[in-house]
Amino acid sequence: MTIFSPITEHIKQQLLTQLCDCLEDGLFILDANLRYMSANAAYEMMIGYQEAFLIGRPLGVYAVDFLPDVERDIFLSVAEHLDKDGFYENNFSIATRYGQTLNCHMTFRKLDLASKVYYVGMVRDTSAVTKDKEELIHLLNFNQDTGLPNRKVFLSQTSDLLLESYQEVAIARFNIDRYRMLASTLGTDKVTTLLNLFVKRINDLKLTHLRCFSHFGGDDFALSFELTDTRMVRHQINSLMQMCERPFSLDGNVIYLRISVGVSYFPEHGTQLSTVLSKAEKALNYIKQNGGDDVGWYREEINYVCIDSLQLEAELRTAIDECQFIPYYQPKITLATGEITGFEALVRWQHPTRGLLQPVDFIDAIITYKLSFDLFCQMAIQIAEQLSAWQAIGFTQHICINADAAEFTHPEFLEFIVTLFDQHCMYPHQLHIEITESSLMLNHLSVKQQLVALKALGVCLAMDDFGTGYASLSYLQEYPFDFIKVDRSFISKIVDDHIQYAIVKAILELANALDMKVIAEGIETDEQWQLLLDIGCTYGQGYLFSRPLTAEDATTMLMRRA
Ligand code: C2E
Ligand code: MG
Ligand code: MG
Repeated sequence: MTIFSPITEHIKQQLLTQLCDCLEDGLFILDANLRYMSANAAYEMMIGYQEAFLIGRPLGVYAVDFLPDVERDIFLSVAEHLDKDGFYENNFSIATRYGQTLNCHMTFRKLDLASKVYYVGMVRDTSAVTKDKEELIHLLNFNQDTGLPNRKVFLSQTSDLLLESYQEVAIARFNIDRYRMLASTLGTDKVTTLLNLFVKRINDLKLTHLRCFSHFGGDDFALSFELTDTRMVRHQINSLMQMCERPFSLDGNVIYLRISVGVSYFPEHGTQLSTVLSKAEKALNYIKQNGGDDVGWYREEINYVCIDSLQLEAELRTAIDECQFIPYYQPKITLATGEITGFEALVRWQHPTRGLLQPVDFIDAIITYKLSFDLFCQMAIQIAEQLSAWQAIGFTQHICINADAAEFTHPEFLEFIVTLFDQHCMYPHQLHIEITESSLMLNHLSVKQQLVALKALGVCLAMDDFGTGYASLSYLQEYPFDFIKVDRSFISKIVDDHIQYAIVKAILELANALDMKVIAEGIETDEQWQLLLDIGCTYGQGYLFSRPLTAEDATTMLMRRA
Protein backbone atom coordinates (compact mmCIF):
# COMPACT_ATOMS: atom_id res chain seq x y z
CA MET A 1 0.00 0.00 0.00
CA THR A 2 1.37 3.39 -0.99
CA ILE A 3 1.58 6.00 1.66
CA PHE A 4 -0.49 9.14 1.14
CA SER A 5 1.65 12.29 1.40
CA PRO A 6 -0.15 15.63 1.56
CA ILE A 7 0.65 18.22 -1.10
CA THR A 8 3.06 20.95 -0.12
CA GLU A 9 2.03 24.56 -0.42
CA HIS A 10 4.75 25.07 -3.00
CA ILE A 11 3.56 22.20 -5.26
CA LYS A 12 -0.04 23.34 -4.88
CA GLN A 13 0.93 26.85 -6.00
CA GLN A 14 2.79 25.46 -9.01
CA LEU A 15 -0.09 23.18 -10.02
CA LEU A 16 -2.60 26.02 -9.75
CA THR A 17 -0.33 28.24 -11.83
CA GLN A 18 -0.03 25.54 -14.49
CA LEU A 19 -3.80 25.01 -14.43
CA CYS A 20 -4.38 28.72 -14.94
CA ASP A 21 -2.14 28.67 -17.97
CA CYS A 22 -3.86 25.76 -19.67
CA LEU A 23 -7.44 26.94 -18.97
CA GLU A 24 -9.50 27.88 -22.04
CA ASP A 25 -11.04 30.79 -20.14
CA GLY A 26 -9.06 33.98 -19.70
CA LEU A 27 -7.99 34.81 -16.13
CA PHE A 28 -6.44 37.94 -14.74
CA ILE A 29 -5.70 39.52 -11.39
CA LEU A 30 -6.07 43.24 -10.71
CA ASP A 31 -4.99 45.29 -7.73
CA ALA A 32 -7.30 47.51 -5.69
CA ASN A 33 -6.97 50.24 -8.33
CA LEU A 34 -7.96 47.82 -11.11
CA ARG A 35 -4.45 47.60 -12.50
CA TYR A 36 -3.30 44.35 -14.03
CA MET A 37 -1.03 42.25 -11.85
CA SER A 38 -1.22 39.00 -13.80
CA ALA A 39 -2.95 37.42 -16.85
CA ASN A 40 -3.01 33.82 -18.05
CA ALA A 41 -2.12 32.57 -21.58
CA ALA A 42 -5.77 32.29 -22.67
CA TYR A 43 -6.38 35.94 -21.79
CA GLU A 44 -3.23 36.98 -23.64
CA MET A 45 -4.50 35.09 -26.70
CA MET A 46 -7.95 36.63 -26.49
CA ILE A 47 -6.96 40.25 -26.31
CA GLY A 48 -3.65 40.06 -28.14
CA TYR A 49 -1.49 41.66 -25.39
CA GLN A 50 1.24 39.91 -23.43
CA GLU A 51 1.10 39.80 -19.65
CA ALA A 52 4.33 41.83 -19.52
CA PHE A 53 2.62 44.68 -21.37
CA LEU A 54 -0.50 44.57 -19.22
CA ILE A 55 1.13 44.56 -15.80
CA GLY A 56 0.66 47.89 -14.07
CA ARG A 57 -1.83 49.16 -16.67
CA PRO A 58 -5.46 49.83 -15.69
CA LEU A 59 -8.24 47.47 -16.76
CA GLY A 60 -9.68 48.29 -20.15
CA VAL A 61 -7.44 51.28 -20.70
CA TYR A 62 -6.40 50.01 -24.06
CA ALA A 63 -9.93 49.14 -25.01
CA VAL A 64 -12.29 51.86 -23.89
CA ASP A 65 -11.73 53.97 -26.95
CA PHE A 66 -12.97 51.19 -29.20
CA LEU A 67 -16.07 50.35 -27.23
CA PRO A 68 -19.60 51.58 -27.73
CA ASP A 69 -20.55 54.18 -25.08
CA VAL A 70 -22.90 51.90 -23.16
CA GLU A 71 -20.28 49.23 -22.70
CA ARG A 72 -17.53 51.70 -21.87
CA ASP A 73 -19.66 53.07 -19.04
CA ILE A 74 -20.31 49.58 -17.67
CA PHE A 75 -16.63 48.82 -17.90
CA LEU A 76 -15.70 51.91 -15.94
CA SER A 77 -18.24 51.20 -13.25
CA VAL A 78 -17.03 47.64 -12.58
CA ALA A 79 -15.15 48.82 -9.47
CA GLU A 80 -18.27 50.41 -8.03
CA HIS A 81 -20.24 47.15 -8.41
CA LEU A 82 -17.41 45.10 -6.97
CA ASP A 83 -16.99 47.31 -3.95
CA LYS A 84 -20.65 47.05 -3.17
CA ASP A 85 -21.29 43.33 -3.81
CA GLY A 86 -17.84 41.71 -4.06
CA PHE A 87 -19.01 40.02 -7.26
CA TYR A 88 -19.96 41.25 -10.69
CA GLU A 89 -20.77 39.51 -13.93
CA ASN A 90 -21.96 40.70 -17.30
CA ASN A 91 -21.73 40.12 -21.03
CA PHE A 92 -19.23 42.42 -22.67
CA SER A 93 -17.86 43.09 -26.08
CA ILE A 94 -14.14 43.51 -25.59
CA ALA A 95 -11.92 45.08 -28.17
CA THR A 96 -8.78 43.16 -29.03
CA ARG A 97 -5.42 44.59 -29.99
CA TYR A 98 -6.23 43.80 -33.64
CA GLY A 99 -9.46 45.74 -33.73
CA GLN A 100 -11.84 42.77 -33.53
CA THR A 101 -14.62 42.68 -31.01
CA LEU A 102 -14.98 39.61 -28.84
CA ASN A 103 -18.32 38.80 -27.28
CA CYS A 104 -17.66 37.37 -23.86
CA HIS A 105 -19.03 36.69 -20.46
CA MET A 106 -16.93 38.23 -17.65
CA THR A 107 -17.01 37.40 -13.96
CA PHE A 108 -15.19 39.53 -11.40
CA ARG A 109 -14.57 38.55 -7.78
CA LYS A 110 -13.21 40.74 -5.01
CA LEU A 111 -10.74 38.86 -2.81
CA ASP A 112 -8.99 40.00 0.36
CA LEU A 113 -5.57 38.62 1.14
CA ALA A 114 -3.21 39.82 3.83
CA SER A 115 -5.26 43.04 4.24
CA LYS A 116 -5.00 43.80 0.60
CA VAL A 117 -7.77 43.88 -2.03
CA TYR A 118 -7.47 41.97 -5.29
CA TYR A 119 -9.90 41.53 -8.09
CA VAL A 120 -9.89 38.32 -10.11
CA GLY A 121 -11.48 38.39 -13.55
CA MET A 122 -12.57 35.38 -15.57
CA VAL A 123 -13.47 35.77 -19.26
CA ARG A 124 -15.32 33.25 -21.42
CA ASP A 125 -15.42 33.83 -25.19
CA THR A 126 -19.08 33.49 -26.22
CA SER A 127 -18.64 34.76 -29.77
CA ALA A 128 -19.51 31.39 -31.28
CA VAL A 129 -22.66 31.06 -29.16
CA THR A 130 -23.65 34.66 -29.86
CA LYS A 131 -23.04 34.13 -33.57
CA ASP A 132 -25.21 30.99 -33.59
CA LYS A 133 -27.91 32.85 -31.73
CA GLU A 134 -27.73 35.81 -34.10
CA GLU A 135 -27.86 33.47 -37.07
CA LEU A 136 -30.86 31.68 -35.65
CA ILE A 137 -32.67 34.96 -35.04
CA HIS A 138 -31.82 35.98 -38.61
CA LEU A 139 -33.00 32.66 -39.98
CA LEU A 140 -36.31 32.93 -38.18
CA ASN A 141 -37.06 36.52 -39.10
CA PHE A 142 -35.47 37.34 -42.42
CA ASN A 143 -35.63 36.00 -45.93
CA GLN A 144 -32.38 34.20 -46.62
CA ASP A 145 -32.12 35.34 -50.25
CA THR A 146 -32.69 39.06 -49.82
CA GLY A 147 -32.26 39.69 -46.09
CA LEU A 148 -35.65 41.44 -45.95
CA PRO A 149 -38.04 40.80 -43.03
CA ASN A 150 -40.13 37.69 -43.66
CA ARG A 151 -43.88 37.20 -43.53
CA LYS A 152 -43.88 36.62 -39.75
CA VAL A 153 -42.12 39.93 -39.09
CA PHE A 154 -44.37 41.72 -41.58
CA LEU A 155 -47.48 40.44 -39.82
CA SER A 156 -46.21 41.40 -36.40
CA GLN A 157 -44.96 44.87 -37.42
CA THR A 158 -48.05 45.63 -39.44
CA SER A 159 -50.46 44.50 -36.74
CA ASP A 160 -48.59 46.78 -34.31
CA LEU A 161 -49.02 49.53 -36.87
CA LEU A 162 -52.78 48.94 -37.06
CA LEU A 163 -53.00 49.09 -33.28
CA GLU A 164 -50.85 52.20 -32.91
CA SER A 165 -51.93 54.14 -35.91
CA TYR A 166 -54.46 56.90 -35.85
CA GLN A 167 -53.97 57.22 -39.58
CA GLU A 168 -54.92 54.98 -42.44
CA VAL A 169 -52.61 52.12 -43.33
CA ALA A 170 -52.14 50.82 -46.88
CA ILE A 171 -50.94 47.32 -47.61
CA ALA A 172 -49.46 46.48 -51.00
CA ARG A 173 -48.72 42.93 -52.10
CA PHE A 174 -46.71 42.40 -55.26
CA ASN A 175 -45.32 39.64 -57.47
CA ILE A 176 -42.95 39.58 -60.41
CA ASP A 177 -44.77 38.64 -63.62
CA ARG A 178 -43.78 35.32 -65.22
CA TYR A 179 -41.40 34.71 -62.34
CA ARG A 180 -41.68 30.93 -62.61
CA MET A 181 -40.50 31.04 -66.19
CA LEU A 182 -37.73 33.49 -65.29
CA ALA A 183 -36.56 31.33 -62.38
CA SER A 184 -36.42 28.17 -64.44
CA THR A 185 -34.66 29.99 -67.27
CA LEU A 186 -32.03 31.72 -65.16
CA GLY A 187 -31.45 29.09 -62.50
CA THR A 188 -31.37 29.59 -58.74
CA ASP A 189 -28.17 31.61 -58.35
CA LYS A 190 -28.89 34.10 -61.08
CA VAL A 191 -32.48 34.61 -60.09
CA THR A 192 -31.32 35.33 -56.51
CA THR A 193 -28.86 37.92 -57.83
CA LEU A 194 -31.67 39.44 -59.88
CA LEU A 195 -33.98 39.53 -56.85
CA ASN A 196 -31.30 41.35 -54.88
CA LEU A 197 -30.87 43.95 -57.64
CA PHE A 198 -34.64 44.37 -57.65
CA VAL A 199 -34.80 44.78 -53.87
CA LYS A 200 -31.91 47.25 -53.89
CA ARG A 201 -33.73 49.39 -56.43
CA ILE A 202 -36.84 49.42 -54.28
CA ASN A 203 -34.78 50.37 -51.23
CA ASP A 204 -33.11 53.13 -53.24
CA LEU A 205 -36.54 54.60 -54.01
CA LYS A 206 -36.69 55.55 -50.30
CA LEU A 207 -40.47 55.29 -50.33
CA THR A 208 -41.87 57.75 -47.82
CA HIS A 209 -44.16 56.60 -44.99
CA LEU A 210 -43.05 53.03 -45.66
CA ARG A 211 -43.20 51.06 -42.43
CA CYS A 212 -42.25 47.57 -43.57
CA PHE A 213 -40.85 46.09 -46.77
CA SER A 214 -41.04 42.33 -46.58
CA HIS A 215 -40.13 39.32 -48.72
CA PHE A 216 -42.47 36.39 -48.15
CA GLY A 217 -40.40 34.13 -50.44
CA GLY A 218 -39.94 33.58 -54.20
CA ASP A 219 -41.33 36.61 -55.98
CA ASP A 220 -43.76 37.39 -53.20
CA PHE A 221 -43.32 40.81 -51.55
CA ALA A 222 -45.31 43.11 -49.29
CA LEU A 223 -45.21 46.75 -48.23
CA SER A 224 -47.06 48.56 -45.48
CA PHE A 225 -47.46 52.34 -45.42
CA GLU A 226 -48.79 54.66 -42.79
CA LEU A 227 -50.82 57.27 -44.59
CA THR A 228 -51.60 60.85 -44.06
CA ASP A 229 -53.12 61.13 -47.49
CA THR A 230 -54.40 58.33 -49.76
CA ARG A 231 -53.03 60.08 -52.85
CA MET A 232 -49.60 59.66 -51.39
CA VAL A 233 -49.66 55.88 -51.68
CA ARG A 234 -50.65 56.13 -55.32
CA HIS A 235 -47.58 58.23 -55.86
CA GLN A 236 -45.36 55.67 -54.09
CA ILE A 237 -46.80 52.74 -56.04
CA ASN A 238 -46.38 54.67 -59.29
CA SER A 239 -42.70 55.16 -58.58
CA LEU A 240 -42.44 51.40 -57.94
CA MET A 241 -43.99 50.67 -61.34
CA GLN A 242 -41.82 53.27 -63.09
CA MET A 243 -38.72 51.76 -61.51
CA CYS A 244 -39.51 48.53 -63.43
CA GLU A 245 -39.39 50.32 -66.75
CA ARG A 246 -35.62 50.48 -66.53
CA PRO A 247 -34.13 47.12 -67.47
CA PHE A 248 -31.87 45.13 -65.17
CA SER A 249 -28.47 44.09 -66.32
CA LEU A 250 -27.29 40.61 -65.36
CA ASP A 251 -24.01 39.23 -66.67
CA GLY A 252 -24.23 41.61 -69.62
CA ASN A 253 -27.82 40.56 -70.43
CA VAL A 254 -30.74 42.92 -70.29
CA ILE A 255 -33.81 41.77 -68.37
CA TYR A 256 -37.10 43.58 -67.94
CA LEU A 257 -39.07 42.80 -64.80
CA ARG A 258 -42.75 43.59 -64.74
CA ILE A 259 -44.72 43.50 -61.53
CA SER A 260 -48.32 43.09 -60.48
CA VAL A 261 -49.48 44.93 -57.38
CA GLY A 262 -52.60 44.71 -55.21
CA VAL A 263 -53.42 47.39 -52.63
CA SER A 264 -55.97 47.58 -49.81
CA TYR A 265 -56.56 50.01 -46.93
CA PHE A 266 -57.12 49.84 -43.22
CA PRO A 267 -59.72 50.60 -41.88
CA GLU A 268 -61.69 51.04 -45.12
CA HIS A 269 -61.39 47.40 -46.18
CA GLY A 270 -61.32 45.79 -42.75
CA THR A 271 -60.24 46.27 -39.18
CA GLN A 272 -58.33 42.98 -38.94
CA LEU A 273 -54.92 42.62 -40.51
CA SER A 274 -55.83 39.24 -42.03
CA THR A 275 -58.83 40.77 -43.81
CA VAL A 276 -56.92 43.76 -45.17
CA LEU A 277 -54.05 41.53 -46.29
CA SER A 278 -56.31 39.04 -48.04
CA LYS A 279 -58.04 41.90 -49.86
CA ALA A 280 -54.69 43.20 -51.12
CA GLU A 281 -54.00 39.62 -52.30
CA LYS A 282 -57.36 39.45 -54.08
CA ALA A 283 -56.57 42.70 -55.87
CA LEU A 284 -53.17 41.27 -56.81
CA ASN A 285 -54.70 38.03 -58.16
CA TYR A 286 -57.20 40.03 -60.12
CA ILE A 287 -54.36 41.94 -61.82
CA LYS A 288 -52.44 38.74 -62.50
CA GLN A 289 -55.47 37.09 -64.05
CA ASN A 290 -55.81 40.12 -66.29
CA GLY A 291 -52.32 40.04 -67.68
CA GLY A 292 -50.25 41.55 -64.87
CA ASP A 293 -47.96 44.58 -65.15
CA ASP A 294 -50.48 46.80 -63.36
CA VAL A 295 -51.79 47.95 -60.00
CA GLY A 296 -55.10 46.73 -58.56
CA TRP A 297 -56.82 48.88 -55.93
CA TYR A 298 -59.16 46.65 -53.98
CA ARG A 299 -62.85 47.05 -54.81
CA GLU A 300 -65.74 44.85 -53.69
CA GLU A 301 -66.45 43.75 -57.28
CA ILE A 302 -63.07 42.03 -57.43
CA ASN A 303 -64.45 39.37 -55.08
CA TYR A 304 -66.83 38.16 -57.74
CA VAL A 305 -64.31 38.13 -60.55
CA CYS A 306 -61.49 36.30 -58.81
CA ILE A 307 -61.47 32.57 -58.86
CA ASP A 308 -59.20 30.82 -56.48
CA SER A 309 -56.38 28.67 -57.74
CA LEU A 310 -57.88 25.30 -56.76
CA GLN A 311 -60.97 26.10 -58.74
CA LEU A 312 -58.81 27.32 -61.64
CA GLU A 313 -56.89 24.05 -61.84
CA ALA A 314 -60.11 22.02 -61.83
CA GLU A 315 -61.60 24.26 -64.50
CA LEU A 316 -58.50 23.97 -66.70
CA ARG A 317 -58.63 20.18 -66.56
CA THR A 318 -62.30 20.21 -67.51
CA ALA A 319 -61.48 22.63 -70.31
CA ILE A 320 -58.91 20.17 -71.70
CA ASP A 321 -61.36 17.25 -71.40
CA GLU A 322 -64.23 19.17 -72.97
CA CYS A 323 -62.14 20.85 -75.66
CA GLN A 324 -62.94 24.41 -74.53
CA PHE A 325 -59.66 25.74 -76.01
CA ILE A 326 -60.00 26.99 -79.54
CA PRO A 327 -57.63 28.67 -81.98
CA TYR A 328 -58.17 32.21 -83.24
CA TYR A 329 -56.27 33.05 -86.41
CA GLN A 330 -54.30 36.21 -87.10
CA PRO A 331 -53.13 36.62 -90.71
CA LYS A 332 -49.48 37.11 -91.57
CA ILE A 333 -48.99 39.56 -94.41
CA THR A 334 -46.40 39.99 -97.14
CA LEU A 335 -45.66 43.66 -96.51
CA ALA A 336 -44.88 44.57 -100.12
CA THR A 337 -48.22 43.29 -101.49
CA GLY A 338 -50.55 43.12 -98.48
CA GLU A 339 -51.30 39.47 -99.32
CA ILE A 340 -52.01 36.86 -96.67
CA THR A 341 -49.10 34.42 -96.49
CA GLY A 342 -50.32 32.33 -93.57
CA PHE A 343 -51.92 32.53 -90.11
CA GLU A 344 -50.81 32.39 -86.52
CA ALA A 345 -53.08 30.35 -84.26
CA LEU A 346 -53.65 32.04 -80.90
CA VAL A 347 -55.41 30.11 -78.19
CA ARG A 348 -58.65 31.33 -76.61
CA TRP A 349 -60.57 29.67 -73.79
CA GLN A 350 -64.31 29.52 -74.24
CA HIS A 351 -65.06 29.58 -70.56
CA PRO A 352 -68.55 28.31 -69.74
CA THR A 353 -69.35 31.24 -67.43
CA ARG A 354 -66.66 33.89 -67.92
CA GLY A 355 -66.81 34.22 -71.69
CA LEU A 356 -63.86 34.20 -74.06
CA LEU A 357 -60.57 34.34 -72.16
CA GLN A 358 -57.20 35.50 -73.54
CA PRO A 359 -53.88 33.62 -73.08
CA VAL A 360 -52.74 36.04 -70.35
CA ASP A 361 -55.63 34.80 -68.23
CA PHE A 362 -54.50 31.19 -68.18
CA ILE A 363 -51.18 30.41 -69.96
CA ASP A 364 -49.14 30.70 -66.77
CA ALA A 365 -51.59 28.39 -65.01
CA ILE A 366 -51.38 25.92 -67.92
CA ILE A 367 -47.60 25.76 -67.39
CA THR A 368 -47.96 25.55 -63.61
CA TYR A 369 -50.40 22.63 -63.77
CA LYS A 370 -48.33 20.89 -66.43
CA LEU A 371 -51.08 20.97 -69.03
CA SER A 372 -48.95 22.48 -71.80
CA PHE A 373 -48.68 19.34 -73.88
CA ASP A 374 -52.43 18.64 -73.62
CA LEU A 375 -53.14 22.21 -74.76
CA PHE A 376 -50.66 21.87 -77.63
CA CYS A 377 -52.32 18.64 -78.85
CA GLN A 378 -55.79 20.15 -78.63
CA MET A 379 -54.68 23.20 -80.63
CA ALA A 380 -52.65 21.20 -83.16
CA ILE A 381 -55.54 18.84 -83.98
CA GLN A 382 -57.91 21.78 -84.60
CA ILE A 383 -55.28 23.52 -86.72
CA ALA A 384 -54.74 20.38 -88.81
CA GLU A 385 -58.50 20.09 -89.34
CA GLN A 386 -58.64 23.75 -90.37
CA LEU A 387 -55.82 23.30 -92.88
CA SER A 388 -57.68 20.30 -94.40
CA ALA A 389 -60.93 22.33 -94.55
CA TRP A 390 -59.18 25.20 -96.35
CA GLN A 391 -57.44 22.74 -98.62
CA ALA A 392 -60.83 21.31 -99.57
CA ILE A 393 -62.06 24.74 -100.76
CA GLY A 394 -58.86 25.49 -102.62
CA PHE A 395 -56.75 27.41 -100.12
CA THR A 396 -53.35 25.99 -99.40
CA GLN A 397 -52.18 27.69 -96.26
CA HIS A 398 -49.76 27.31 -93.42
CA ILE A 399 -50.52 27.93 -89.76
CA CYS A 400 -48.12 28.78 -86.95
CA ILE A 401 -48.65 27.28 -83.55
CA ASN A 402 -47.07 28.64 -80.36
CA ALA A 403 -45.24 26.20 -78.16
CA ASP A 404 -43.21 26.45 -74.98
CA ALA A 405 -40.36 24.33 -73.72
CA ALA A 406 -42.61 22.11 -71.61
CA GLU A 407 -44.38 21.00 -74.78
CA PHE A 408 -41.17 20.34 -76.62
CA THR A 409 -39.54 18.24 -74.03
CA HIS A 410 -42.58 15.98 -73.66
CA PRO A 411 -41.50 12.43 -74.60
CA GLU A 412 -44.44 11.94 -76.98
CA PHE A 413 -44.01 15.25 -78.78
CA LEU A 414 -42.38 14.05 -82.02
CA GLU A 415 -44.53 10.95 -82.31
CA PHE A 416 -47.62 13.11 -81.94
CA ILE A 417 -46.49 15.45 -84.74
CA VAL A 418 -45.71 12.58 -87.13
CA THR A 419 -49.12 10.95 -86.48
CA LEU A 420 -50.83 14.32 -86.96
CA PHE A 421 -49.28 14.74 -90.44
CA ASP A 422 -50.29 11.18 -91.41
CA GLN A 423 -53.86 11.40 -90.20
CA HIS A 424 -54.60 14.76 -91.81
CA CYS A 425 -52.60 14.30 -95.01
CA MET A 426 -50.67 17.47 -94.15
CA TYR A 427 -47.36 18.63 -95.55
CA PRO A 428 -44.88 19.30 -92.77
CA HIS A 429 -44.14 22.78 -94.15
CA GLN A 430 -47.79 23.71 -93.54
CA LEU A 431 -47.06 23.69 -89.85
CA HIS A 432 -44.84 26.40 -88.38
CA ILE A 433 -43.86 26.34 -84.75
CA GLU A 434 -43.10 29.51 -82.77
CA ILE A 435 -40.90 29.30 -79.74
CA THR A 436 -40.05 32.19 -77.43
CA GLU A 437 -36.43 33.06 -76.72
CA SER A 438 -36.79 32.25 -73.05
CA SER A 439 -37.96 28.70 -73.82
CA LEU A 440 -34.66 28.02 -75.52
CA MET A 441 -32.68 28.55 -72.37
CA LEU A 442 -34.67 25.94 -70.58
CA ASN A 443 -33.35 22.45 -70.94
CA HIS A 444 -31.06 23.64 -73.63
CA LEU A 445 -29.90 20.31 -75.03
CA SER A 446 -33.20 18.48 -75.27
CA VAL A 447 -34.95 21.51 -76.79
CA LYS A 448 -32.20 21.72 -79.37
CA GLN A 449 -32.50 18.01 -80.24
CA GLN A 450 -36.26 18.33 -80.68
CA LEU A 451 -35.88 21.40 -82.90
CA VAL A 452 -33.34 19.66 -85.09
CA ALA A 453 -35.64 16.62 -85.37
CA LEU A 454 -38.64 18.82 -86.28
CA LYS A 455 -36.57 20.63 -88.86
CA ALA A 456 -35.55 17.28 -90.33
CA LEU A 457 -39.27 16.43 -90.67
CA GLY A 458 -39.74 19.62 -92.71
CA VAL A 459 -41.52 21.77 -90.10
CA CYS A 460 -40.71 25.53 -90.24
CA LEU A 461 -39.44 27.14 -87.06
CA ALA A 462 -39.78 30.72 -85.83
CA MET A 463 -38.21 32.48 -82.89
CA ASP A 464 -41.01 34.45 -81.23
CA ASP A 465 -40.81 37.77 -79.32
CA PHE A 466 -37.22 38.27 -80.44
CA GLY A 467 -35.44 40.90 -78.37
CA THR A 468 -37.38 40.44 -75.14
CA GLY A 469 -35.79 37.34 -73.72
CA TYR A 470 -32.59 36.47 -72.07
CA ALA A 471 -31.01 34.45 -74.87
CA SER A 472 -28.00 35.86 -76.60
CA LEU A 473 -27.73 36.43 -80.31
CA SER A 474 -25.59 33.33 -80.59
CA TYR A 475 -28.72 31.22 -80.12
CA LEU A 476 -29.82 32.32 -83.55
CA GLN A 477 -26.75 30.75 -85.03
CA GLU A 478 -27.12 27.62 -82.96
CA TYR A 479 -30.77 26.77 -83.67
CA PRO A 480 -32.23 26.01 -87.08
CA PHE A 481 -34.76 28.87 -87.31
CA ASP A 482 -36.44 29.92 -90.55
CA PHE A 483 -38.09 33.05 -89.14
CA ILE A 484 -37.40 35.69 -86.52
CA LYS A 485 -40.44 37.48 -85.11
CA VAL A 486 -39.42 40.94 -83.87
CA ASP A 487 -41.34 41.74 -80.71
CA ARG A 488 -44.14 44.27 -80.73
CA SER A 489 -42.33 46.44 -78.17
CA PHE A 490 -39.76 47.41 -80.84
CA ILE A 491 -42.30 47.93 -83.61
CA SER A 492 -44.56 50.16 -81.49
CA LYS A 493 -41.73 52.69 -81.07
CA ILE A 494 -40.00 52.30 -84.43
CA VAL A 495 -41.38 55.54 -85.90
CA ASP A 496 -40.47 57.90 -83.05
CA ASP A 497 -37.53 56.25 -81.37
CA HIS A 498 -34.35 56.15 -83.42
CA ILE A 499 -32.79 53.56 -81.12
CA GLN A 500 -35.65 51.08 -81.65
CA TYR A 501 -35.45 51.83 -85.35
CA ALA A 502 -31.70 51.08 -85.36
CA ILE A 503 -32.27 47.84 -83.44
CA VAL A 504 -34.88 46.58 -85.90
CA LYS A 505 -32.58 47.50 -88.80
CA ALA A 506 -29.74 45.59 -87.19
CA ILE A 507 -31.99 42.54 -86.62
CA LEU A 508 -32.91 42.62 -90.33
CA GLU A 509 -29.25 42.69 -91.33
CA LEU A 510 -28.43 39.89 -88.94
CA ALA A 511 -31.33 37.76 -90.20
CA ASN A 512 -30.19 38.40 -93.74
CA ALA A 513 -26.69 37.24 -92.93
CA LEU A 514 -28.08 34.10 -91.27
CA ASP A 515 -30.50 33.43 -94.12
CA MET A 516 -33.58 33.84 -91.96
CA LYS A 517 -36.74 35.82 -92.73
CA VAL A 518 -38.14 38.50 -90.43
CA ILE A 519 -41.75 38.96 -89.35
CA ALA A 520 -42.60 42.24 -87.58
CA GLU A 521 -45.19 41.73 -84.82
CA GLY A 522 -47.85 44.22 -83.75
CA ILE A 523 -47.99 46.60 -86.73
CA GLU A 524 -50.73 49.07 -85.92
CA THR A 525 -50.15 52.09 -88.19
CA ASP A 526 -49.47 52.85 -91.84
CA GLU A 527 -46.26 54.68 -90.85
CA GLN A 528 -44.91 51.56 -89.17
CA TRP A 529 -45.82 49.46 -92.22
CA GLN A 530 -44.11 51.90 -94.60
CA LEU A 531 -40.99 52.23 -92.49
CA LEU A 532 -40.65 48.43 -92.19
CA LEU A 533 -41.02 48.10 -95.96
CA ASP A 534 -38.35 50.77 -96.47
CA ILE A 535 -35.84 48.92 -94.36
CA GLY A 536 -36.50 45.62 -96.10
CA CYS A 537 -38.76 43.69 -93.71
CA THR A 538 -40.66 41.04 -95.68
CA TYR A 539 -43.50 39.96 -93.41
CA GLY A 540 -45.72 41.52 -90.79
CA GLN A 541 -48.64 40.92 -88.48
CA GLY A 542 -50.77 43.32 -86.53
CA TYR A 543 -54.10 44.98 -85.85
CA LEU A 544 -53.54 47.21 -88.89
CA PHE A 545 -54.17 44.17 -91.09
CA SER A 546 -56.41 42.16 -88.81
CA ARG A 547 -57.02 41.20 -85.22
CA PRO A 548 -57.05 37.47 -84.43
CA LEU A 549 -60.22 36.01 -86.00
CA THR A 550 -62.48 33.02 -85.47
CA ALA A 551 -61.98 30.19 -87.99
CA GLU A 552 -65.16 31.29 -89.72
CA ASP A 553 -64.06 34.93 -90.05
CA ALA A 554 -60.59 33.87 -91.23
CA THR A 555 -62.21 31.73 -93.95
CA THR A 556 -64.40 34.68 -95.02
CA MET A 557 -61.30 36.87 -95.18
CA LEU A 558 -59.50 34.33 -97.38
CA MET A 559 -62.48 34.02 -99.73
CA ARG A 560 -62.96 37.77 -100.00
CA ARG A 561 -59.30 38.31 -100.85
CA ALA A 562 -59.35 35.51 -103.40
P1 C2E B 1 -47.38 35.95 -79.43
O1 C2E B 1 -47.18 34.60 -79.96
O2 C2E B 1 -46.26 36.91 -79.54
O3 C2E B 1 -48.67 36.50 -80.11
C1 C2E B 1 -48.88 37.83 -80.45
C2 C2E B 1 -49.81 38.51 -79.50
O4 C2E B 1 -49.91 39.87 -79.85
C3 C2E B 1 -51.22 37.96 -79.57
O5 C2E B 1 -51.77 38.12 -78.27
C4 C2E B 1 -51.89 38.91 -80.54
O6 C2E B 1 -53.28 38.97 -80.36
C5 C2E B 1 -51.24 40.20 -80.15
N1 C2E B 1 -51.20 41.15 -81.25
C6 C2E B 1 -51.09 40.89 -82.56
N2 C2E B 1 -51.08 42.02 -83.28
C7 C2E B 1 -51.15 43.03 -82.39
C8 C2E B 1 -51.14 44.46 -82.51
O7 C2E B 1 -51.09 45.04 -83.58
N3 C2E B 1 -51.21 45.19 -81.36
C9 C2E B 1 -51.30 44.59 -80.15
N4 C2E B 1 -51.38 45.36 -79.07
N5 C2E B 1 -51.29 43.25 -79.99
C10 C2E B 1 -51.22 42.48 -81.11
P2 C2E B 1 -52.51 36.93 -77.58
O8 C2E B 1 -53.39 36.21 -78.51
O9 C2E B 1 -53.10 37.50 -76.33
O10 C2E B 1 -51.34 35.96 -77.21
C11 C2E B 1 -50.38 36.31 -76.26
C12 C2E B 1 -49.31 35.28 -76.16
O11 C2E B 1 -49.80 34.06 -75.62
C13 C2E B 1 -48.71 34.90 -77.50
O12 C2E B 1 -47.77 35.86 -77.88
C14 C2E B 1 -48.10 33.56 -77.19
O13 C2E B 1 -46.82 33.72 -76.60
C15 C2E B 1 -49.04 33.00 -76.16
N6 C2E B 1 -49.92 32.03 -76.82
C16 C2E B 1 -50.98 32.24 -77.61
N7 C2E B 1 -51.51 31.07 -78.02
C17 C2E B 1 -50.73 30.09 -77.47
C18 C2E B 1 -50.75 28.65 -77.52
O14 C2E B 1 -51.59 28.02 -78.17
N8 C2E B 1 -49.80 27.99 -76.81
C19 C2E B 1 -48.85 28.67 -76.12
N9 C2E B 1 -47.93 27.94 -75.45
N10 C2E B 1 -48.80 30.00 -76.04
C20 C2E B 1 -49.72 30.70 -76.72
MG1 MG C 1 -46.43 33.79 -81.43
MG1 MG D 1 -44.72 37.31 -80.25
